[in-house]
Amino acid sequence: MKMLPLLPDSPVKVVRDAARAVKRTANLMIQRVTAETFNILLGLPGMVVTEYALERQGEQEVLHLFCHHEHEVAICPRCGQVSDAVHEQEERAIRHLDIWGKATYVHFPSRRFDCEHCKKPFTESLSWVESKRRESTGYELHVYNQCKHTDQAAVAEQEGLHPETVKGIFLRWAKRAEKQRQYTLVHCLGVDEISLRKGHQQFALVLSDLERHCVIAVLPERSQKAFEAWLAGLSEAERQSIRLVAMDMWGPYRGVVRSKLSHAEIVADRFHVTKQLNDALGKIRRRLQASDPTSYERLKGIRWILVRRRAELKSEEEAKLQAALDAFPELRTAYLLKERFVAIADKIQDRAQAERFLRAWVYEAQASGLVQLVKFTQTLQHWWEEFLNYFNEGFTSGVVEGLNNAIRGTIRRAYGYHVFEHFRLHVLVEHGNLSTPIPLI
Ligand SMILES: [Zn+2]
Repeated sequence: MKMLPLLPDSPVKVVRDAARAVKRTANLMIQRVTAETFNILLGLPGMVVTEYALERQGEQEVLHLFCHHEHEVAICPRCGQVSDAVHEQEERAIRHLDIWGKATYVHFPSRRFDCEHCKKPFTESLSWVESKRRESTGYELHVYNQCKHTDQAAVAEQEGLHPETVKGIFLRWAKRAEKQRQYTLVHCLGVDEISLRKGHQQFALVLSDLERHCVIAVLPERSQKAFEAWLAGLSEAERQSIRLVAMDMWGPYRGVVRSKLSHAEIVADRFHVTKQLNDALGKIRRRLQASDPTSYERLKGIRWILVRRRAELKSEEEAKLQAALDAFPELRTAYLLKERFVAIADKIQDRAQAERFLRAWVYEAQASGLVQLVKFTQTLQHWWEEFLNYFNEGFTSGVVEGLNNAIRGTIRRAYGYHVFEHFRLHVLVEHGNLSTPIPLI
């Protein structure tokens, strides 16, 4: 393989802008442009560029590079013997990384050799493109990396590829990345449900590593069975290493942890608990809003104002909130209780102190007589120890909430991921802390 001419060692910083590049020319080992230059710039081992053509396609120019092979021999994949007997060859064109902003195709003869030892023909394998692919490995990885942050339709548009091609590339490399994932023991497991489509009762169960802040598995259904089956698939050492499980307040998950991971501490994490309280507040608001047209108008647009942190409200939002609370005493009671609850969860770090505050809070919430709040206190009492465990562990709910929000972001632009497997791989690639997949050679 031809090496790029290396820069002499220099203590100067990396070139990030043109102004600095000008100052750097004095340090560069400048070479004359020769026929060899193209091979170096193309950087495909074993390929020698002989001709090129520029083709106009609408607004774009496409670059075609015609190559031949540097070596006249190839190694038989069966026996490892070298052969120089070309059996047949056919023209192949491979899309490669853009050169100077132009979509680039590499043309070359794909050769089949005869192996004298095995008495069978073989197609030579190339290090930069996998067999039967129409894109080079470098280009496929470029497409795969773009799919991490942009929806596939936009990537297809940008690269001038068919959407199915983009999807195929993404799925193939994502599966490899998952397969090549390094095995690590999980100490704090997060169990979280994510709604896949609004209005559809379709959920996925997301399991995450709360220490490493990454998703480790996405299961197609939120059920006790699915969670149990996943745990059963772990090794004994993997199960033993889990010392804490954070979850929303859903009984069956707790049952599974108690029976299958009896050594682990269960935490009803604050993100899920306050979400339930906000849901209760939302129900009260909707009931008031539905009572008559005037109330409907007065409470219009208040939904997110009630949920968001009060300190972060803009002045007009605060005024709107104030007016709503003045007009609806029940809403005021519920809202102030919600704010107190959030303050306890935010500020208190000691379990015993949290318990004292929460007892007083439950007493008041029950005294309010608001059915939804009373129901919430019943759930909370059902999960009393687990919620108090939240105050034990110095872990902030920011992790659970952050991952949850990030995955929602993936879902939002998950245009066309009607197949669960695509969604699963997207979540893993974007939030699973996977390394760049290694090509198969
Ligand atoms: Zn052979």
